Amino acid sequence: MSAVIRHQATPDPDGCRWCGDARHHHGRSYVASQGVHFWEQPTNAQRLARMRARRAARTRKET
Ligand SMILES: [Zn+2]
Repeated sequence: MSAVIRHQATPDPDGCRWCGDARHHHGRSYVASQGVHFWEQPTNAQRLARMRARRAARTRKET
């Protein structure tokens, strides 16, 4: 199972599982796939993927 969610910037590893927004400034948010929703805990797989993406983005910038 894999959900492909695209973001312009790498989202916070603890960001909302639907839109990637950080909990403290999420509030009510709209995404096409989920509609209006409140912050929801990301899955462990999402956290891991985001952390990996962050590391990859950092590495790309350094080189
Ligand atoms: Zn959200």
